[in-house]
Amino acid sequence: MTPPIPFDNSYASLPERFYARLRPVPVRAPATIRVNGPLADYLGIDRAALEGDDGAALTTGNRLPEGAEPIAMAYAGHQFGQFNPQLGDGRAILLGEVVARDGVRHDLHLKGSGITPYSRGGDGRSPLGPVLREYIVSEAMHALGIPTTRSLMAATTGERVLRETPLPGAVLLRVARSHIRVGTFELFASRGDVEGLRILLDHALARHYPEHVDAPVPAIAFLRAVGERQAALIARWQLLGFIHGVMNTDNMLVCGDTIDYGPCAFLDAYDPAKVFSSIDQFGRYAYRNQAPIARWNLAALARALIALFGEDEPAIERTAEQAQAIIDAFPEQHAQAHRKGLRHKLGLSTDEDGDEALASELLQHMHERGADFTLTFRHLTDLATETPAQHAVSALLAVPPTDAWLERWRARLARDPRHPTERADDMRAVNPALIPRNHRIEAAIRAAEDQGDLAPFHQLVDALEDPSRYDPSRASFARPPRPEERVARTFCGT
Ligand code: AMP
Ligand code: MG
Repeated sequence: MTPPIPFDNSYASLPERFYARLRPVPVRAPATIRVNGPLADYLGIDRAALEGDDGAALTTGNRLPEGAEPIAMAYAGHQFGQFNPQLGDGRAILLGEVVARDGVRHDLHLKGSGITPYSRGGDGRSPLGPVLREYIVSEAMHALGIPTTRSLMAATTGERVLRETPLPGAVLLRVARSHIRVGTFELFASRGDVEGLRILLDHALARHYPEHVDAPVPAIAFLRAVGERQAALIARWQLLGFIHGVMNTDNMLVCGDTIDYGPCAFLDAYDPAKVFSSIDQFGRYAYRNQAPIARWNLAALARALIALFGEDEPAIERTAEQAQAIIDAFPEQHAQAHRKGLRHKLGLSTDEDGDEALASELLQHMHERGADFTLTFRHLTDLATETPAQHAVSALLAVPPTDAWLERWRARLARDPRHPTERADDMRAVNPALIPRNHRIEAAIRAAEDQGDLAPFHQLVDALEDPSRYDPSRASFARPPRPEERVARTFCGT
């Protein structure tokens, strides 16, 4: 029996030109890789039902659960700055939506489920590696407190997909608050479909920003709200060393959650110019460019919304000025969120003039000496912690901050009013011991693809469920790569 799912679909009721109705293309032999039990519980889906063979058949699209209305969503987007008027789910299908325990609506989305009308040259399939990568990183991001799409389940297909070599195929059952992208708005704008644009805006507002549905100019309230969430999101990425890698407008969700874990990677050694993605030749999406690019994407959203700016010339003009002001405010919004986050990472609860210099000198030193980003901040957390047993992570840090810097930092902490225990607890929450390190992801993928061994994948996912916790048994997940383990390049894996 197909696992019962309490579908409550809304996107599939929008006009037919928003998507293509279709059925997933069945695969030969669905087999479960992993089921995310707590996420199933949250969504009100019976986890036991997902765990059996029927769960795998659901994830690969072999069985359609009752109430599913499978569609491939249409969208456009700017990819590396170039407008592509027709993208769309080329290897993904939206099964439908469920309303979670807390009342928040979520998409259930199959990624790698076969050809759609938007596949262009592609086969609509996904190799196992990218499915495992997305499962590991999206769930780690969630555990790290970053708004993100989630992974409910992954299954292998029993088929091979042909890339440079034949690889085992897999499908991810992805969960998102929605799959509405900046590029979805760009699709209707580029077609001159003002009615479609208005319907999409109403839908997105009601779903993600209900407090703004009655705004005098909904388009501008929407743009401002999207910008605010995006500024906060990018700052949070950077404060954990995350590089998205492919911030095209079709990979920016208007709800403010992270999406698309193709070529993403976390910094080991701190380097603000770092790029991992093999397709990012000019460093457009480098670590430090992520805020300027998000602003660029926000400007693309503003352009897409112009048709909804007002009824007459003067109104349109006024709104356009407001839109420009929103775009211009983005860099400072982001910088503020970033500064505040850095203060937290340093254990500071108050704001002093010299704090920014203190933080940037540390980053400068880390950059010059190639210090590990995650371990440096966790080392400070250890130093701020009174119980010596918790000092274990520091042993893994090869390049500690200089004594002179530490002395200044300690003097600054002494002026901060918070109790040391409370401070250390807060620092642990924002300075994780564990991140999904590239070499561990790579090792998990190699074991799975080359040897059919999923144990390293499961161990990594398990460890990352609690990234803040550290004891020496977790040292292998916390330590940076040895030179021979370093991952220089990541691939989209399409
Ligand atoms: P993505 O990397 O999933 O963000 O995809 C970017 C674009 O390429 C989207 O339009 C996808 O639908 C399309 N695409 C990527 N991989 C495939 C594939 N294997 N088959 C069909 N379309 C694909
Ligand atoms: Mg994408």
